[in-house]
Amino acid sequence: MSNPANVIRFLHTIENLKRTKRTGWLDNGIQNAESIADHMHRMGIMAMLIDDPSLNREKCIKMAIVHDLAEAVVGDITPHAGVSKEDKFNLEKNAMVSFQSMLGDTAMAREIADLWQEYEDAQTAEALLVKDLDKFEMIVQALEYEKSDHKKLQGFFDSTKGKFRHPAVKAWAEALYAEREQL
Ligand code: ZN
Repeated sequence: MSNPANVIRFLHTIENLKRTKRTGWLDNGIQNAESIADHMHRMGIMAMLIDDPSLNREKCIKMAIVHDLAEAVVGDITPHAGVSKEDKFNLEKNAMVSFQSMLGDTAMAREIADLWQEYEDAQTAEALLVKDLDKFEMIVQALEYEKSDHKKLQGFFDSTKGKFRHPAVKAWAEALYAEREQL
């Protein structure tokens, strides 16, 4: 079992996920932007809504709620930040290793680290689904900000267009585009 004091230290560290607003929205001047934790929570709900027996649904849900955990330490580094993909990966990997040393070598801590790594590797069907949800959650939020903040956030739609793989997420994206057309 993880040392309780270290578990508390870990929980305080990941509080940053609730406090850190997603960079993409800050860069676009969105007021009261959502946090990293907000984004992961709705992805977890989306994963619960995927009806696909070929996928391990529980794994998808768990992966959705941990995939950005390292951002509690390194922040939300976007492709525009001037940090190479490799440097970003190494920073985040170090954060995950620090969590594991906080939590100790338990099956639970290993599961969190393994899910994070599986998402990064993007090889399994579950990881690819969660990658889809990551992009889809972003454009759902983008449309919401377009409505609430009266902004045009076209870049988020352009950068994700045609990138969705899972049929359910593709269908959701079409429904979202149709809603956006009505604006
Ligand atoms: Zn994410």
